Amino acid sequence: MSSDDSTGPGGRRFETLAVTRGEEPDLDNGVGDVTSPIHLASTYAVDGIDTDTALEDLDPGADEFLYTRLSNPTRHAVEQRVAALEGGDRAMAFASGTSAVVATVMAAVEPGDRIVAFDDLYGGTNTMLKELFRDRLNVAVDFVDATDPAAVRAATTDDTALLWMETPTNPLLKLCDVEAMADIAREHGALLGVDNTFMGPYFQRPLELGADVVVHSTTKYINGHSDSLGGVAVTSDDEFAAEIGFLQQVGLGNVMAPFDAYMVLRGLKTLPLRMRQHEKNAAEVAAYLEAHEAVSAVHYPGLDSHPQHDLANEQMDGHGGVLSFELEGGLPAVERFVAALEEFTLAVSLGGVESLIEHPASMTHSPLPAEERAELGITDGLLRVSVGIEHPKDLVADLERGFAAMEEAGEASATDAGTAVSD
Ligand SMILES: *Cc1c(COP(=O)(O)O)cnc(C)c1O
Repeated sequence: MSSDDSTGPGGRRFETLAVTRGEEPDLDNGVGDVTSPIHLASTYAVDGIDTDTALEDLDPGADEFLYTRLSNPTRHAVEQRVAALEGGDRAMAFASGTSAVVATVMAAVEPGDRIVAFDDLYGGTNTMLKELFRDRLNVAVDFVDATDPAAVRAATTDDTALLWMETPTNPLLKLCDVEAMADIAREHGALLGVDNTFMGPYFQRPLELGADVVVHSTTKYINGHSDSLGGVAVTSDDEFAAEIGFLQQVGLGNVMAPFDAYMVLRGLKTLPLRMRQHEKNAAEVAAYLEAHEAVSAVHYPGLDSHPQHDLANEQMDGHGGVLSFELEGGLPAVERFVAALEEFTLAVSLGGVESLIEHPASMTHSPLPAEERAELGITDGLLRVSVGIEHPKDLVADLERGFAAMEEAGEASATDAGTAVSD
């Protein structure tokens, strides 16, 4: 399903599903709310003693509710909506993106299995795979450069139960070819999971490219306003969905709270509008940075100079709102640049309507040893920005402030050096 030609449930298109799916007014309950109420009850009155229906056979779609951890109408609404937008049959909503990832990986592997993972994953997922799955649960993890399908093929064996990918990655915006990853997974009877947080379903739908499961940190673009923490896993594989659902409700008991489900339902209504503006602004910021002499590299899949620009155009419907760039002058330049900014807030996270900037070497990627950072290409001069939906001219003007502060400092130190020599 993409915005114009193809359709999802009920023959509706993306923009329509984003507004109404899961929240269809129900006049039978006597109120007909146009938006979903926030159902806070932890437990529900039932009709009578029923010895025929097993717990796992309760159907929230048929309004069968027993206890909120198992099912909740507000959470059910957001699960239906995200499933429709990702083009999947079932979605399970969690209290964080991290819990969506841990439940999904756990549902796919057993002790003794192997995982092949992109070597440029979200920091928390990287640490989870090493310190939980590898060190405690006896699941081997091979980290490979998945920009090269041959490297993934070489690392995948018949013991591999799961390929775990992100595309594009953080902070260097590397891509992997989802169709090629799906072929490799199928050759070995493994599952393919894709963390689609950076693009969101409006720009990329990995299930349509052959992935078995997609996860999101809804904390980012899906909620979109930096005011809710959550995650979701989506799949069309019934057996896999049942495993993930078991972990969500019983094995881990980790569910999205009703208030967050409401926030995400609200945020999703404007996802297409926000994503279009994020992309428009990111393209302007990327072009401005690429032309600047104090910038040695810009990483953004929408630029012709991105080494995987063609793949980006093939498998995504847009290029997103996150980019990173490298300043000449390393850490001292970065410090001056960031201190002068007024619009871009110095903060981790991404995907909200406001523009953020962060320094991976000292913030998101500081847990990695310096050599590992160097190997991955995360230098001290690298900055990552999540471009918001403000006026792009104000964003470019802000970056100009940063460059002006760098230049002033450069001139001052040149003057100092000049004075020192003439003395
Ligand atoms: C933020 C993020 C996560 C973790 O999500 P939380 O909601 O913070 O737990 C996982 N993957 C990616 C790509 C992210 O950006």
